Order: sequence, then structure tokens, then C-alpha cells
Amino acid sequence: MEYGINIPESPGKRVVVIGAGFGGLNVVKGLKNAGMQIVVVDKNNYHQFQPLLYQVATSGLEPTAIAFPVRGIFKGFKNFHFLMSEVKKIEPTRNVIATEAGELSYDFLVIAAGADTNYFGIENIRHISMGLKSVPEALQLRNRIYKSMEIVSRVVDEKEKEKFLNFVVVGGGATGIELAGAVAELRRKVLPRDFPEIDFSQMKIFLLNANERLLDAFQPQTSEKTKKDLQAMGIIVMNNAKVADYRDDAVIYNNEERIYTKNVVWASGIIANVFDGIDNLGQGKRIITDKYCRVKRLDGGIYDNLYAIGDIAVIPEYVMPQVAQVAIQQAQLAVYNITHEDKIMFTYKDKGKMATIGRNKAVAEIDKKRFSGFFAWFLWLFIHLLYIIGFRSRLEVFSNWVWNYVARDQPIRSIIEIKRDET
Ligand SMILES: Cc1cc2nc3c(=O)[nH]c(=O)nc-3n(C[C@H](O)[C@H](O)[C@H](O)COP(=O)(O)OP(=O)(O)OC[C@H]3O[C@@H](n4cnc5c(N)ncnc54)[C@H](O)[C@@H]3O)c2cc1C
Repeated sequence: MEYGINIPESPGKRVVVIGAGFGGLNVVKGLKNAGMQIVVVDKNNYHQFQPLLYQVATSGLEPTAIAFPVRGIFKGFKNFHFLMSEVKKIEPTRNVIATEAGELSYDFLVIAAGADTNYFGIENIRHISMGLKSVPEALQLRNRIYKSMEIVSRVVDEKEKEKFLNFVVVGGGATGIELAGAVAELRRKVLPRDFPEIDFSQMKIFLLNANERLLDAFQPQTSEKTKKDLQAMGIIVMNNAKVADYRDDAVIYNNEERIYTKNVVWASGIIANVFDGIDNLGQGKRIITDKYCRVKRLDGGIYDNLYAIGDIAVIPEYVMPQVAQVAIQQAQLAVYNITHEDKIMFTYKDKGKMATIGRNKAVAEIDKKRFSGFFAWFLWLFIHLLYIIGFRSRLEVFSNWVWNYVARDQPIRSIIEIKRDET
């Protein structure tokens, strides 16, 4: 079959945006009335709300609650086009990108393609572990949790049972903590109701963190509080535990220490998505930009019409965390700089950071003030609800949360997958 790109020639300037994540969406919103043609190219036809992926993975939310079709988000936008295709190459000298569907020219290009899981070259881990960067991965993890329990319920060998009952979460950042906490909540109330034949006192959840403390972007007191809360939930927290390999059904860390498990979740690092044609890359393969978010060339010059924002980009003078607020604020800056002659430099307004640990438990830091417990948890829920796109999804997430809280339930527990022999 022959493909082509059916996007009409634009009488005005054409802005192509690679990626419909937090960065890309906010570029489109900002350019709504700029009189330019906007083309978003994404390999998926939806925007995914990554902060709630772990709730899909632990059966608290349906995937549709956090995945929003891009065409639906921007229906009614004039001069907006969407192309579902993977971008392979960028040719800044020709002002063209190469996609699976063909070439597309641009007047301005905004690269907002985010990042993927970094396995740091540990091939065995890449093969057997589960990442948590996308909706399909969250579904894979949800299936794995319930498949493991089904296997435990019928296996007789104690050593085999142990492998399926052990859950190892690698990574002491917000994702690792949130996931470990959510699995512990499942173990406490939800799984024992479904599997009365399993002795859940034997189910162990390990959180392996290569750094000295959890949440190392937060203040040390917050790290300590988080560790205590997780331990109180029965999670085995190990700091300074560097995972090196996975062999013979065991995670190997530090000096050949082992945890036997079939369930490994890798939440330990990210690496920017790279494109042929862009080779001025910094740490974590992030595209190096100037303070105006324009892509820097290897010879020190800049591409005037090429912007990189969000997780994929880095301004070497002030390296920022790879979080949604940076992507959103850089998108707003890129919009301004595309539409104005007088360009402005990026400065990050840190609105604070937070991580949820479990029922009624979270930590937050806003303006150097520290919060924890119920207040931080409530704040976390409120802010995440606010950022979800669309009234229907907000209502869906809210009603799920209320149900899960009141009924102490995580209702979405079906194993739905195409049959494959994984065990
Ligand atoms: C599990 C998890 C939890 C998180 N929790 C929080 C949180 O609580 N708070 C917070 O602030 N941040 C959180 N983050 C980080 C936050 O989600 C990211 O910083 C943010 O999504 C970055 O936005 P972005 O636009 O740069 O990239 P993304 O949102 O990742 O979007 C990138 C888009 O590019 C598309 N794409 C990638 N490659 C290609 C290609 N070759 N061709 C076409 N399209 C492509 C992808 O499909 C995707 O739609 C979390 C991240 C994860 C994974």
C-alpha cells in the first residue's frame, strides 16, 4: 500500500510539533490564534497522562481515563492537523522531517518527543523487566500482577511460589515510590479478597534504590519520612542497592546479592528519544538548546527555527528536572519566541514537587516548605485532577478514586491480553 501525507499546503507559516505530550499540547494551545498552520506528529493517536500510569498498572483506573485522542482534544481548532506516524529523521538544513508516512516540511519545528526508559545497557533487565512509561506498559504490568497471583494459586513448589510473590521495584524516584506503595495497598486489602488460598504474608515488595536516599531531588527530611512511611506499609526499602543484572530468575545487585523474582519493574532512569539528524546531545541524550529553547548546532551556532522542549531537551547552563511543569513552561516560551521577534529566555518557575505513597500518605515540597500525610495526599489528588484533560475524564478519575477509597477496592482486575507464553 502506498502512503502519503494529505496535509494541505499552508498559506501562512507551518509549525510542526513532534510529540503530543505535555510540551506538544501546550504549544498547540498557545498557537491557537496565531494564524499559523499547526501539524502535530505523534506515533500514538493519544496524549497520555504519565503521572497516573501507576494507577492503571495497579488496577485503580481504566487506560481510557488517562489516554486522550489528540484529534478529539483539538477538534474545532482551525488550521490544525494531526499525523499519526513515527518521526525517524530531522533535516534542519532542508527544513524537513522524515516520518514513516513520508516527508513533511516546516517553517518552525518544535521537538517535544520526550524520553523513554533507560536500562543503562543491562540487556537481561531490558528483556525481563517492565517499564512504566506508556499505557501499554501499564497494562502489561497490571496483567503481570494478576497472572502472578493466578500462578501462585496453583503452584505447589515453595521456591517457585516465592518468585511470583516477590515484586522488585527498581528506582527510588517518585515513580518507584508511587508504584511500590500502590502494590502494597493491593497486597493489604484487594488481593487477599480475590485469592483467599494465598498466604500474603509471604508476598514481599522490594524497593531497590541505587542512591543514598529516596527522592533525592527532595530535602533529606522528606526522603526519610518517605522511607519510614513505605517501611510502615511493609515495603523492604534498600538504598545504595545498585542493580547489575538479572540471571537465573534473580535480580542481582551490589556484590552478587540476589532476590528471586519473576516480577521486576524498572523505574530507574530515562533517556531522551533520539532522531537521526540531531547530534548535539548532552547527558541522557538530551538535545542541547540555548536559553531560548532553540536547538544548538555542533559548531556552536543555533537553528533559528528549531526548538526542543520538555524531557527531550536540556539547557546546559541550568539543567532542570524532567517533569511536566518544565515541558509546559518551555512550550509557552517556544510559542512566544516563534510568534515574536524579541525573544525571551527561559526561567523555570518551580511550583513545587510531590509524590504519593499510599492511602492518606504523600509528601510535598512547595516554596521550601515540607508537607506530608493527609494534607499532602489531598493536595496531590486535587492537583492531578486539575491537570487531567476534559470534564468526562476528570469525572471518571474522580469517581474511581472515591469508589476505591470508600470501598477499599481496585476494581479493574481482569487480565486482558493476546495469549502469549510468557512464563
Ligand atoms: C510514570 C511517570 C510518572 C510521572 N509523574 C510525574 C508527576 O507526578 N509530575 C510531573 O511533573 N511529572 C511526572 N512525570 C514526568 C512527566 O510525565 C514528563 O516530564 C512529561 O511528560 C514530559 O513531557 P514531554 O512533552 O517532554 O514528553 P512526553 O509527555 O513524554 O510526550 C512525548 C510524546 O512524543 C511522542 N513521541 C516520542 N517519540 C516519537 C517519535 N519518534 N515520533 C513521533 N512521536 C514520538 C510520544 O508518543 C509522546 O506522546 C512522570 C513520568 C512518568 C513516566
